[in-house]
Amino acid sequence: MNSYDYDLFVIGAGSGGVRAARIAAEHGARVAIAEDDKVGGTCVVRGCVPKKLFIHSAHFAEAVEDSVGFGWTTEGVRFDWPTLRDNVNADTAWLSGIYIRNLERSGAQLIRARAVVESANSVRLDGDRVATARYILVATGGHPVTDTDIPGYEHAIVSDDAFHLETLPKKILIIGGGYIALEFGAIFKGFGVDTTVIHRGVDILRGFDADVRRAVHSALQARGIDVICRETVTGIAEHAGGLAVTTSGGRLLQVDQVMFAIGRRPNTEGLGLEKAGVQLGTNGRIEVNSFSRTNVDSIYAVGDVTDRQQLTPVAIREGSAVADTLFAGRPTEVDHDCIPTAVFTQPEVGTVGLTEEAAKAAHDAVDIYKANFKPLHHRVAGRDERMMIKLIVDGDNDRVLGFHAIGEGAAEMAQLVAVAIRMGARKADFDATVALHPTQSEEIVTMHSPVERFRAETPLALPVR
Ligand code: FAD
Ligand code: NDP
Repeated sequence: MNSYDYDLFVIGAGSGGVRAARIAAEHGARVAIAEDDKVGGTCVVRGCVPKKLFIHSAHFAEAVEDSVGFGWTTEGVRFDWPTLRDNVNADTAWLSGIYIRNLERSGAQLIRARAVVESANSVRLDGDRVATARYILVATGGHPVTDTDIPGYEHAIVSDDAFHLETLPKKILIIGGGYIALEFGAIFKGFGVDTTVIHRGVDILRGFDADVRRAVHSALQARGIDVICRETVTGIAEHAGGLAVTTSGGRLLQVDQVMFAIGRRPNTEGLGLEKAGVQLGTNGRIEVNSFSRTNVDSIYAVGDVTDRQQLTPVAIREGSAVADTLFAGRPTEVDHDCIPTAVFTQPEVGTVGLTEEAAKAAHDAVDIYKANFKPLHHRVAGRDERMMIKLIVDGDNDRVLGFHAIGEGAAEMAQLVAVAIRMGARKADFDATVALHPTQSEEIVTMHSPVERFRAETPLALPVR
Protein backbone atom coordinates (compact mmCIF):
# COMPACT_ATOMS: atom_id res chain seq x y z
CA MET A 1 0.00 0.00 0.00
CA ASN A 2 2.84 2.38 0.88
CA SER A 3 4.34 2.55 -2.61
CA TYR A 4 1.59 5.02 -3.46
CA ASP A 5 1.53 8.66 -2.35
CA TYR A 6 -1.94 8.10 -0.88
CA ASP A 7 -4.28 5.25 -0.07
CA LEU A 8 -7.21 7.24 -1.42
CA PHE A 9 -7.28 10.25 -3.72
CA VAL A 10 -10.69 11.93 -3.89
CA ILE A 11 -11.51 14.28 -6.78
CA GLY A 12 -14.15 16.82 -5.70
CA ALA A 13 -14.86 18.20 -2.23
CA GLY A 14 -18.66 18.19 -2.37
CA SER A 15 -21.12 16.16 -0.31
CA GLY A 16 -19.94 12.71 -1.44
CA GLY A 17 -16.22 13.43 -1.71
CA VAL A 18 -15.85 15.15 1.66
CA ARG A 19 -17.73 12.39 3.46
CA ALA A 20 -15.65 9.66 1.83
CA ALA A 21 -12.38 11.50 2.57
CA ARG A 22 -13.24 12.13 6.21
CA ILE A 23 -14.42 8.60 6.96
CA ALA A 24 -11.50 7.02 5.10
CA ALA A 25 -9.03 9.20 7.03
CA GLU A 26 -10.75 8.30 10.28
CA HIS A 27 -10.29 4.63 9.33
CA GLY A 28 -6.55 5.35 9.16
CA ALA A 29 -6.12 5.76 5.41
CA ARG A 30 -3.75 8.37 3.94
CA VAL A 31 -6.20 10.58 2.07
CA ALA A 32 -5.95 13.56 -0.27
CA ILE A 33 -8.93 15.44 -1.67
CA ALA A 34 -8.71 17.90 -4.58
CA GLU A 35 -11.11 20.78 -5.11
CA ASP A 36 -10.85 23.53 -7.71
CA ASP A 37 -13.78 25.61 -6.41
CA LYS A 38 -15.35 26.22 -3.01
CA VAL A 39 -15.22 23.30 -0.59
CA GLY A 40 -18.70 21.94 0.14
CA GLY A 41 -19.79 21.54 -3.46
CA THR A 42 -23.20 22.06 -4.95
CA CYS A 43 -25.27 21.45 -1.83
CA VAL A 44 -23.46 23.93 0.36
CA VAL A 45 -22.45 26.57 -2.17
CA ARG A 46 -25.11 26.63 -4.92
CA GLY A 47 -27.77 24.07 -4.02
CA CYS A 48 -29.73 22.76 -1.06
CA VAL A 49 -28.50 25.14 1.61
CA PRO A 50 -28.76 28.57 -0.06
CA LYS A 51 -31.90 27.37 -1.88
CA LYS A 52 -33.60 26.38 1.39
CA LEU A 53 -32.68 29.73 2.91
CA PHE A 54 -34.24 31.48 -0.10
CA ILE A 55 -37.36 29.35 0.34
CA HIS A 56 -37.44 30.31 4.01
CA SER A 57 -37.27 33.96 2.99
CA ALA A 58 -40.02 33.53 0.40
CA HIS A 59 -42.23 32.05 3.16
CA PHE A 60 -42.32 35.42 4.91
CA ALA A 61 -44.37 36.81 2.03
CA GLU A 62 -47.04 34.22 2.81
CA ALA A 63 -46.68 34.69 6.58
CA VAL A 64 -47.13 38.44 6.25
CA GLU A 65 -50.20 37.95 4.04
CA ASP A 66 -51.72 35.39 6.42
CA SER A 67 -50.92 37.40 9.55
CA VAL A 68 -53.57 40.00 8.74
CA GLY A 69 -56.36 37.52 9.52
CA PHE A 70 -54.64 36.89 12.86
CA GLY A 71 -54.77 40.54 13.84
CA TRP A 72 -51.43 41.86 12.61
CA THR A 73 -50.92 45.11 10.78
CA THR A 74 -48.28 44.81 8.11
CA GLU A 75 -47.97 48.18 6.40
CA GLY A 76 -44.45 49.04 5.39
CA VAL A 77 -43.18 45.47 5.24
CA ARG A 78 -40.80 45.17 2.29
CA PHE A 79 -38.27 42.74 0.91
CA ASP A 80 -34.66 43.69 0.12
CA TRP A 81 -32.94 41.27 -2.26
CA PRO A 82 -29.30 42.36 -1.70
CA THR A 83 -29.69 41.84 2.06
CA LEU A 84 -30.94 38.30 1.59
CA ARG A 85 -28.43 37.45 -1.15
CA ASP A 86 -25.43 38.71 0.82
CA ASN A 87 -26.52 37.15 4.13
CA VAL A 88 -27.11 33.79 2.47
CA ASN A 89 -23.80 33.89 0.62
CA ALA A 90 -22.03 34.80 3.87
CA ASP A 91 -23.70 31.82 5.54
CA THR A 92 -22.61 29.40 2.81
CA ALA A 93 -19.04 30.76 3.03
CA TRP A 94 -19.13 30.06 6.79
CA LEU A 95 -20.42 26.54 6.15
CA SER A 96 -17.70 25.95 3.55
CA GLY A 97 -15.17 26.88 6.26
CA ILE A 98 -16.68 24.27 8.58
CA TYR A 99 -16.24 21.66 5.86
CA ILE A 100 -12.58 22.63 5.51
CA ARG A 101 -12.02 22.42 9.28
CA ASN A 102 -13.73 19.02 9.48
CA LEU A 103 -11.55 17.71 6.67
CA GLU A 104 -8.41 18.98 8.41
CA ARG A 105 -9.52 17.48 11.71
CA SER A 106 -10.00 14.08 10.08
CA GLY A 107 -6.43 14.12 8.77
CA ALA A 108 -7.35 14.26 5.08
CA GLN A 109 -5.13 16.58 3.02
CA LEU A 110 -7.04 19.22 1.06
CA ILE A 111 -5.40 20.14 -2.25
CA ARG A 112 -6.71 23.25 -3.99
CA ALA A 113 -6.36 22.13 -7.60
CA ARG A 114 -8.19 20.68 -10.54
CA ALA A 115 -7.47 16.97 -10.66
CA VAL A 116 -7.86 14.68 -13.63
CA VAL A 117 -7.39 10.95 -13.82
CA GLU A 118 -4.04 10.06 -15.37
CA SER A 119 -4.20 6.27 -15.01
CA ALA A 120 -5.82 3.61 -12.83
CA ASN A 121 -3.62 4.72 -9.91
CA SER A 122 -2.62 8.30 -10.62
CA VAL A 123 -4.10 11.78 -10.95
CA ARG A 124 -2.68 14.93 -12.48
CA LEU A 125 -3.07 18.15 -10.50
CA ASP A 126 -3.58 21.44 -12.35
CA GLY A 127 -2.02 19.81 -15.42
CA ASP A 128 1.25 19.72 -13.54
CA ARG A 129 2.10 17.50 -10.58
CA VAL A 130 1.16 13.80 -10.57
CA ALA A 131 0.03 12.01 -7.41
CA THR A 132 -0.39 8.27 -7.09
CA ALA A 133 -3.01 6.45 -5.05
CA ARG A 134 -4.08 2.90 -4.41
CA TYR A 135 -7.67 4.00 -4.96
CA ILE A 136 -9.18 7.00 -6.76
CA LEU A 137 -12.66 8.24 -5.94
CA VAL A 138 -14.34 10.48 -8.50
CA ALA A 139 -16.89 12.74 -6.80
CA THR A 140 -17.00 15.64 -9.24
CA GLY A 141 -20.78 16.21 -9.19
CA GLY A 142 -22.65 17.75 -12.10
CA HIS A 143 -23.53 21.07 -13.68
CA PRO A 144 -26.75 22.64 -14.94
CA VAL A 145 -27.43 22.20 -18.63
CA THR A 146 -28.83 24.69 -21.12
CA ASP A 147 -30.46 23.94 -24.45
CA THR A 148 -27.99 25.28 -26.98
CA ASP A 149 -30.40 24.48 -29.82
CA ILE A 150 -32.61 27.38 -28.76
CA PRO A 151 -31.55 30.54 -30.59
CA GLY A 152 -30.53 33.10 -27.95
CA TYR A 153 -30.00 30.45 -25.23
CA GLU A 154 -26.91 32.41 -24.08
CA HIS A 155 -29.15 35.16 -22.67
CA ALA A 156 -30.56 32.76 -20.07
CA ILE A 157 -29.23 32.01 -16.60
CA VAL A 158 -29.06 28.72 -14.66
CA SER A 159 -29.57 28.01 -10.96
CA ASP A 160 -25.88 28.72 -10.17
CA ASP A 161 -26.42 32.33 -11.31
CA ALA A 162 -29.64 32.81 -9.38
CA PHE A 163 -27.72 33.02 -6.09
CA HIS A 164 -25.75 36.07 -7.24
CA LEU A 165 -28.15 38.26 -9.23
CA GLU A 166 -27.31 41.95 -9.07
CA THR A 167 -30.99 42.83 -9.08
CA LEU A 168 -34.17 40.81 -9.04
CA PRO A 169 -36.03 40.63 -12.35
CA LYS A 170 -39.58 41.97 -12.48
CA LYS A 171 -40.63 39.10 -14.74
CA ILE A 172 -38.97 35.72 -15.13
CA LEU A 173 -39.58 32.69 -17.34
CA ILE A 174 -38.26 29.39 -15.99
CA ILE A 175 -37.83 26.50 -18.43
CA GLY A 176 -38.37 23.01 -16.94
CA GLY A 177 -40.89 21.19 -14.79
CA GLY A 178 -38.70 19.46 -12.20
CA TYR A 179 -37.30 20.26 -8.76
CA ILE A 180 -35.30 23.36 -9.64
CA ALA A 181 -37.85 24.97 -11.96
CA LEU A 182 -40.60 24.68 -9.37
CA GLU A 183 -38.55 25.56 -6.30
CA PHE A 184 -37.13 28.65 -7.98
CA GLY A 185 -40.61 29.43 -9.31
CA ALA A 186 -41.82 29.52 -5.71
CA ILE A 187 -38.77 31.52 -4.62
CA PHE A 188 -39.09 34.22 -7.27
CA LYS A 189 -42.85 34.43 -6.80
CA GLY A 190 -42.34 34.81 -3.05
CA PHE A 191 -40.00 37.72 -3.73
CA GLY A 192 -42.70 39.42 -5.78
CA VAL A 193 -41.38 38.52 -9.24
CA ASP A 194 -43.96 37.88 -11.95
CA THR A 195 -43.17 34.22 -12.60
CA THR A 196 -43.94 31.83 -15.45
CA VAL A 197 -42.83 28.20 -15.66
CA ILE A 198 -42.87 26.48 -19.04
CA HIS A 199 -42.67 22.69 -19.21
CA ARG A 200 -42.48 20.50 -22.31
CA GLY A 201 -44.45 17.55 -20.85
CA VAL A 202 -48.14 16.97 -20.12
CA ASP A 203 -47.63 17.97 -16.52
CA ILE A 204 -44.87 19.01 -14.13
CA LEU A 205 -42.91 16.67 -11.83
CA ARG A 206 -42.75 13.61 -14.05
CA GLY A 207 -42.22 10.50 -11.95
CA PHE A 208 -44.11 11.83 -8.93
CA ASP A 209 -47.54 10.53 -7.88
CA ALA A 210 -50.23 11.82 -10.26
CA ASP A 211 -52.27 13.34 -7.41
CA VAL A 212 -49.20 15.24 -6.24
CA ARG A 213 -48.46 16.51 -9.74
CA ARG A 214 -52.02 17.78 -10.17
CA ALA A 215 -52.10 19.32 -6.68
CA VAL A 216 -48.74 21.11 -7.09
CA HIS A 217 -49.73 22.41 -10.50
CA SER A 218 -52.99 23.90 -9.27
CA ALA A 219 -51.48 25.21 -6.01
CA LEU A 220 -48.70 27.04 -7.87
CA GLN A 221 -51.22 28.38 -10.36
CA ALA A 222 -53.46 29.53 -7.49
CA ARG A 223 -50.51 31.38 -5.97
CA GLY A 224 -50.09 33.31 -9.19
CA ILE A 225 -47.33 31.33 -10.92
CA ASP A 226 -48.28 30.81 -14.54
CA VAL A 227 -47.55 27.15 -15.31
CA ILE A 228 -47.57 26.42 -19.05
CA CYS A 229 -47.35 22.75 -20.08
CA ARG A 230 -46.90 20.99 -23.44
CA GLU A 231 -44.89 23.90 -24.83
CA THR A 232 -41.22 24.60 -25.43
CA VAL A 233 -39.22 27.75 -25.90
CA THR A 234 -38.30 28.30 -29.56
CA GLY A 235 -36.26 31.49 -29.28
CA ILE A 236 -34.88 34.10 -26.89
CA ALA A 237 -33.91 37.55 -28.13
CA GLU A 238 -32.96 40.85 -26.54
CA HIS A 239 -35.84 43.27 -26.83
CA ALA A 240 -36.81 46.57 -25.23
CA GLY A 241 -34.28 46.27 -22.41
CA GLY A 242 -35.47 42.74 -21.62
CA LEU A 243 -35.93 39.44 -23.40
CA ALA A 244 -38.57 38.42 -25.92
CA VAL A 245 -39.31 34.72 -25.78
CA THR A 246 -41.22 32.75 -28.38
CA THR A 247 -42.81 29.37 -27.67
CA SER A 248 -43.96 26.37 -29.71
CA GLY A 249 -47.53 27.32 -28.75
CA GLY A 250 -47.21 30.63 -30.59
CA ARG A 251 -46.78 32.80 -27.49
CA LEU A 252 -44.57 35.85 -27.32
CA LEU A 253 -43.48 36.55 -23.75
CA GLN A 254 -41.66 39.71 -22.72
CA VAL A 255 -39.56 39.06 -19.58
CA ASP A 256 -36.44 40.38 -17.85
CA GLN A 257 -34.85 37.01 -17.22
CA VAL A 258 -35.00 33.46 -18.53
CA MET A 259 -33.69 30.57 -16.45
CA PHE A 260 -32.96 27.04 -17.62
CA ALA A 261 -33.82 24.34 -15.08
CA ILE A 262 -33.74 21.36 -17.41
CA GLY A 263 -31.51 18.97 -15.52
CA ARG A 264 -27.86 18.55 -14.63
CA ARG A 265 -25.09 16.69 -16.45
CA PRO A 266 -22.32 14.71 -14.69
CA ASN A 267 -18.91 16.44 -14.60
CA THR A 268 -16.88 13.89 -16.54
CA GLU A 269 -15.73 15.85 -19.56
CA GLY A 270 -11.95 16.24 -19.76
CA LEU A 271 -11.50 14.18 -16.60
CA GLY A 272 -9.26 11.58 -18.24
CA LEU A 273 -11.70 8.77 -17.52
CA GLU A 274 -11.80 7.39 -21.06
CA LYS A 275 -7.98 7.26 -21.07
CA ALA A 276 -8.04 5.24 -17.86
CA GLY A 277 -10.62 2.90 -19.40
CA VAL A 278 -13.52 3.92 -17.15
CA GLN A 279 -16.90 3.12 -18.67
CA LEU A 280 -19.29 6.04 -19.07
CA GLY A 281 -23.05 5.79 -19.56
CA THR A 282 -25.66 8.04 -21.12
CA ASN A 283 -25.33 11.70 -20.34
CA GLY A 284 -21.64 11.12 -19.49
CA ARG A 285 -22.34 9.52 -16.11
CA ILE A 286 -19.85 7.08 -14.62
CA GLU A 287 -21.15 3.51 -14.56
CA VAL A 288 -20.66 1.88 -11.16
CA ASN A 289 -21.78 -1.28 -9.36
CA SER A 290 -23.64 -1.35 -6.03
CA PHE A 291 -20.32 -0.72 -4.20
CA SER A 292 -19.75 2.39 -6.38
CA ARG A 293 -16.83 0.66 -8.10
CA THR A 294 -16.25 1.37 -11.81
CA ASN A 295 -15.10 -1.26 -14.29
CA VAL A 296 -11.52 -0.26 -13.32
CA ASP A 297 -10.95 -1.98 -9.95
CA SER A 298 -9.04 0.90 -8.32
CA ILE A 299 -11.44 3.67 -9.42
CA TYR A 300 -14.68 4.40 -7.59
CA ALA A 301 -17.31 7.11 -8.16
CA VAL A 302 -20.08 8.52 -5.96
CA GLY A 303 -22.77 11.19 -6.04
CA ASP A 304 -24.18 13.15 -8.95
CA VAL A 305 -21.36 12.11 -11.27
CA THR A 306 -22.92 8.62 -11.26
CA ASP A 307 -26.43 10.04 -11.79
CA ARG A 308 -28.16 7.44 -9.63
CA GLN A 309 -30.28 9.77 -7.52
CA GLN A 310 -29.04 13.37 -7.44
CA LEU A 311 -29.61 14.06 -3.76
CA THR A 312 -27.15 15.12 -1.08
CA PRO A 313 -27.89 12.38 1.47
CA VAL A 314 -27.46 9.82 -1.29
CA ALA A 315 -24.02 11.19 -2.25
CA ILE A 316 -23.04 11.24 1.43
CA ARG A 317 -24.15 7.67 2.00
CA GLU A 318 -22.36 6.45 -1.12
CA GLY A 319 -19.16 8.24 -0.05
CA SER A 320 -19.34 6.76 3.41
CA ALA A 321 -19.99 3.26 2.02
CA VAL A 322 -16.90 3.46 -0.22
CA ALA A 323 -14.72 4.44 2.74
CA ASP A 324 -16.10 1.57 4.85
CA THR A 325 -15.70 -0.89 1.99
CA LEU A 326 -12.09 0.04 1.25
CA PHE A 327 -10.68 0.86 4.67
CA ALA A 328 -12.81 -0.70 7.40
CA GLY A 329 -13.03 -4.23 6.03
CA ARG A 330 -16.81 -3.76 5.80
CA PRO A 331 -18.04 -4.15 2.20
CA THR A 332 -21.04 -1.81 2.15
CA GLU A 333 -23.65 -1.44 -0.57
CA VAL A 334 -26.05 1.48 -0.70
CA ASP A 335 -29.71 0.65 -0.94
CA HIS A 336 -31.27 3.17 -3.32
CA ASP A 337 -34.83 2.05 -2.54
CA CYS A 338 -37.23 4.01 -0.42
CA ILE A 339 -35.30 7.29 -0.41
CA PRO A 340 -37.46 10.16 0.86
CA THR A 341 -37.41 13.35 -1.13
CA ALA A 342 -39.05 16.76 -1.06
CA VAL A 343 -39.76 19.54 -3.50
CA PHE A 344 -39.54 22.75 -1.51
CA THR A 345 -42.22 24.61 -3.37
CA GLN A 346 -44.90 26.58 -1.58
CA PRO A 347 -46.79 24.44 -0.67
CA GLU A 348 -44.08 21.81 -0.38
CA VAL A 349 -44.09 18.18 -1.44
CA GLY A 350 -42.80 15.28 0.65
CA THR A 351 -42.72 11.77 -0.69
CA VAL A 352 -41.25 8.33 -0.08
CA GLY A 353 -41.83 4.91 -1.56
CA LEU A 354 -44.03 3.90 -4.46
CA THR A 355 -46.40 6.18 -6.31
CA GLU A 356 -49.94 4.92 -6.87
CA GLU A 357 -49.08 4.22 -10.50
CA ALA A 358 -45.92 2.25 -9.66
CA ALA A 359 -47.66 0.30 -6.91
CA LYS A 360 -50.50 -0.73 -9.23
CA ALA A 361 -47.98 -1.84 -11.84
CA ALA A 362 -46.01 -3.94 -9.35
CA HIS A 363 -48.69 -5.32 -6.99
CA ASP A 364 -51.91 -7.27 -7.53
CA ALA A 365 -53.75 -5.53 -4.72
CA VAL A 366 -53.32 -1.90 -3.72
CA ASP A 367 -55.39 0.16 -1.31
CA ILE A 368 -55.31 3.94 -1.60
CA TYR A 369 -55.94 6.17 1.42
CA LYS A 370 -56.29 9.91 0.97
CA ALA A 371 -56.95 12.90 3.19
CA ASN A 372 -57.68 16.25 1.61
CA PHE A 373 -58.34 19.05 4.06
CA LYS A 374 -57.91 22.73 4.79
CA PRO A 375 -55.40 23.28 7.63
CA LEU A 376 -57.11 25.19 10.42
CA HIS A 377 -54.83 28.23 10.25
CA HIS A 378 -55.65 28.64 6.55
CA ARG A 379 -59.29 29.18 7.56
CA VAL A 380 -58.47 32.18 9.74
CA ALA A 381 -55.92 33.48 7.24
CA GLY A 382 -58.49 33.22 4.47
CA ARG A 383 -56.09 31.14 2.39
CA ASP A 384 -57.95 28.87 0.03
CA GLU A 385 -55.40 26.07 -0.04
CA ARG A 386 -55.81 22.45 0.95
CA MET A 387 -53.36 19.84 2.17
CA MET A 388 -53.24 16.36 0.66
CA ILE A 389 -51.86 13.26 2.35
CA LYS A 390 -51.89 9.91 0.64
CA LEU A 391 -50.87 6.40 1.69
CA ILE A 392 -50.37 3.54 -0.73
CA VAL A 393 -50.89 0.15 0.92
CA ASP A 394 -50.29 -3.39 -0.31
CA GLY A 395 -53.81 -4.88 -0.25
CA ASP A 396 -52.46 -8.42 0.19
CA ASN A 397 -50.30 -7.96 3.26
CA ASP A 398 -51.24 -4.47 4.59
CA ARG A 399 -47.65 -3.14 4.16
CA VAL A 400 -47.39 0.59 3.54
CA LEU A 401 -45.68 1.05 0.18
CA GLY A 402 -45.75 4.79 -0.33
CA PHE A 403 -46.47 8.15 1.26
CA HIS A 404 -47.13 11.40 -0.57
CA ALA A 405 -48.03 14.77 0.88
CA ILE A 406 -48.38 18.30 -0.31
CA GLY A 407 -48.71 21.13 2.18
CA GLU A 408 -46.96 22.58 5.19
CA GLY A 409 -44.56 20.14 6.85
CA ALA A 410 -44.81 17.57 4.06
CA ALA A 411 -41.01 17.21 3.81
CA GLU A 412 -40.60 16.65 7.56
CA MET A 413 -43.39 14.06 7.47
CA ALA A 414 -41.79 12.16 4.58
CA GLN A 415 -38.55 11.78 6.52
CA LEU A 416 -40.34 10.17 9.47
CA VAL A 417 -42.72 8.00 7.46
CA ALA A 418 -39.65 6.72 5.57
CA VAL A 419 -38.47 5.05 8.79
CA ALA A 420 -41.80 3.30 9.21
CA ILE A 421 -41.87 2.14 5.59
CA ARG A 422 -38.31 0.81 5.80
CA MET A 423 -39.25 -1.11 8.93
CA GLY A 424 -42.08 -2.74 6.99
CA ALA A 425 -44.86 -1.00 8.89
CA ARG A 426 -48.39 -2.07 8.07
CA LYS A 427 -51.40 0.15 7.74
CA ALA A 428 -52.65 -1.48 10.97
CA ASP A 429 -49.58 -0.02 12.75
CA PHE A 430 -50.51 3.44 11.52
CA ASP A 431 -54.12 2.86 12.67
CA ALA A 432 -52.96 1.68 16.10
CA THR A 433 -50.90 4.85 16.60
CA VAL A 434 -52.67 7.56 18.58
CA ALA A 435 -52.93 10.90 16.75
CA LEU A 436 -51.14 14.02 17.93
CA HIS A 437 -53.68 16.83 17.87
CA PRO A 438 -53.91 19.42 16.42
CA THR A 439 -51.35 18.74 13.70
CA GLN A 440 -51.47 18.17 9.98
CA SER A 441 -49.61 14.88 10.29
CA GLU A 442 -52.30 13.36 12.52
CA GLU A 443 -54.14 12.62 9.28
CA ILE A 444 -51.47 9.99 8.57
CA VAL A 445 -52.91 7.83 11.37
CA THR A 446 -56.58 8.69 11.01
CA MET A 447 -57.35 7.62 7.44
CA HIS A 448 -59.42 4.54 8.17
CA SER A 449 -61.24 3.83 4.90
CA PRO A 450 -59.51 3.48 1.56
CA VAL A 451 -60.77 5.68 -1.25
CA GLU A 452 -59.93 2.88 -3.66
CA ARG A 453 -59.27 -0.84 -3.47
CA PHE A 454 -57.37 -1.72 -6.64
CA ARG A 455 -57.32 -5.39 -7.62
CA ALA A 456 -55.49 -6.47 -10.77
CA GLU A 457 -57.61 -8.56 -13.05
CA THR A 458 -57.19 -12.25 -12.35
CA PRO A 459 -54.67 -13.44 -14.93
CA LEU A 460 -56.05 -15.82 -17.54
CA ALA A 461 -55.46 -19.41 -16.47
CA LEU A 462 -52.60 -20.94 -18.42
CA PRO A 463 -53.48 -24.14 -20.28
CA VAL A 464 -52.40 -27.26 -18.39
CA ARG A 465 -49.99 -29.31 -20.52
P1 FAD B 1 -21.01 18.16 -5.63
O1 FAD B 1 -21.58 18.55 -4.32
O2 FAD B 1 -21.45 18.91 -6.83
O3 FAD B 1 -19.43 18.24 -5.50
C1 FAD B 1 -18.57 18.07 -6.58
C2 FAD B 1 -17.33 18.90 -6.34
O4 FAD B 1 -16.31 18.51 -7.24
C3 FAD B 1 -17.56 20.40 -6.61
O5 FAD B 1 -17.16 21.14 -5.48
C4 FAD B 1 -16.68 20.72 -7.81
O6 FAD B 1 -16.14 22.02 -7.80
C5 FAD B 1 -15.59 19.66 -7.65
N1 FAD B 1 -14.90 19.31 -8.89
C6 FAD B 1 -15.46 18.99 -10.08
N2 FAD B 1 -14.49 18.63 -10.95
C7 FAD B 1 -13.31 18.73 -10.30
C8 FAD B 1 -11.97 18.47 -10.68
N3 FAD B 1 -11.65 18.00 -11.88
N4 FAD B 1 -10.99 18.67 -9.76
C9 FAD B 1 -11.29 19.14 -8.51
N5 FAD B 1 -12.55 19.37 -8.10
C10 FAD B 1 -13.56 19.17 -8.98
N6 FAD B 1 -30.30 17.70 -2.89
C11 FAD B 1 -31.01 17.43 -1.78
O7 FAD B 1 -30.88 16.33 -1.22
N7 FAD B 1 -31.88 18.34 -1.24
C12 FAD B 1 -32.05 19.56 -1.79
O8 FAD B 1 -32.84 20.37 -1.28
C13 FAD B 1 -31.31 19.89 -2.95
N8 FAD B 1 -31.44 21.11 -3.51
C14 FAD B 1 -30.69 21.41 -4.61
C15 FAD B 1 -30.84 22.67 -5.17
C16 FAD B 1 -30.12 23.02 -6.29
C17 FAD B 1 -30.29 24.39 -6.89
C18 FAD B 1 -29.21 22.08 -6.86
C19 FAD B 1 -28.41 22.45 -8.08
C20 FAD B 1 -29.06 20.82 -6.31
C21 FAD B 1 -29.80 20.48 -5.18
N9 FAD B 1 -29.69 19.21 -4.59
C22 FAD B 1 -30.44 18.91 -3.49
C23 FAD B 1 -28.78 18.18 -5.16
C24 FAD B 1 -27.47 18.13 -4.37
O9 FAD B 1 -26.92 19.42 -4.27
C25 FAD B 1 -26.49 17.18 -5.06
O10 FAD B 1 -27.11 15.93 -5.23
C26 FAD B 1 -25.22 16.99 -4.23
O11 FAD B 1 -24.59 18.20 -3.96
C27 FAD B 1 -24.27 16.06 -4.99
O12 FAD B 1 -23.05 15.93 -4.28
P2 FAD B 1 -21.74 15.43 -5.02
O13 FAD B 1 -20.72 15.21 -3.96
O14 FAD B 1 -22.06 14.33 -5.93
O15 FAD B 1 -21.30 16.64 -5.96
P1 NDP C 1 -35.07 17.51 -13.01
O1 NDP C 1 -34.58 16.27 -13.63
O2 NDP C 1 -35.75 17.44 -11.70
O3 NDP C 1 -36.06 18.24 -14.00
C1 NDP C 1 -35.67 18.58 -15.28
C2 NDP C 1 -36.87 19.13 -16.00
O4 NDP C 1 -36.47 19.71 -17.23
C3 NDP C 1 -37.91 18.10 -16.31
O5 NDP C 1 -39.18 18.66 -16.14
C4 NDP C 1 -37.64 17.77 -17.77
O6 NDP C 1 -38.79 17.39 -18.47
C5 NDP C 1 -37.20 19.11 -18.28
N1 NDP C 1 -36.30 19.04 -19.43
C6 NDP C 1 -35.23 18.24 -19.61
N2 NDP C 1 -34.63 18.51 -20.78
C7 NDP C 1 -35.33 19.51 -21.35
C8 NDP C 1 -35.21 20.22 -22.56
N3 NDP C 1 -34.21 19.95 -23.41
N4 NDP C 1 -36.12 21.17 -22.83
C9 NDP C 1 -37.11 21.46 -21.98
N5 NDP C 1 -37.28 20.81 -20.80
C10 NDP C 1 -36.40 19.85 -20.50
O7 NDP C 1 -33.80 18.48 -12.99
P2 NDP C 1 -33.53 19.83 -12.21
O8 NDP C 1 -32.63 20.60 -13.08
O9 NDP C 1 -34.80 20.44 -11.76
O10 NDP C 1 -32.72 19.34 -10.94
C11 NDP C 1 -31.60 18.45 -11.07
C12 NDP C 1 -31.59 17.46 -9.96
O11 NDP C 1 -31.11 18.08 -8.77
C13 NDP C 1 -32.95 16.91 -9.58
O12 NDP C 1 -33.33 15.83 -10.38
C14 NDP C 1 -32.75 16.50 -8.15
O13 NDP C 1 -32.23 15.21 -8.09
C15 NDP C 1 -31.73 17.51 -7.64
N6 NDP C 1 -32.44 18.54 -6.88
C16 NDP C 1 -33.06 18.15 -5.72
C17 NDP C 1 -33.77 19.06 -4.99
C18 NDP C 1 -34.45 18.61 -3.74
O14 NDP C 1 -34.10 17.57 -3.22
N7 NDP C 1 -35.40 19.36 -3.22
C19 NDP C 1 -33.89 20.45 -5.40
C20 NDP C 1 -33.18 20.76 -6.63
C21 NDP C 1 -32.49 19.82 -7.34
P3 NDP C 1 -39.26 15.86 -18.55
O15 NDP C 1 -39.93 15.59 -17.28
O16 NDP C 1 -40.15 15.87 -19.73
O17 NDP C 1 -38.02 15.05 -18.75
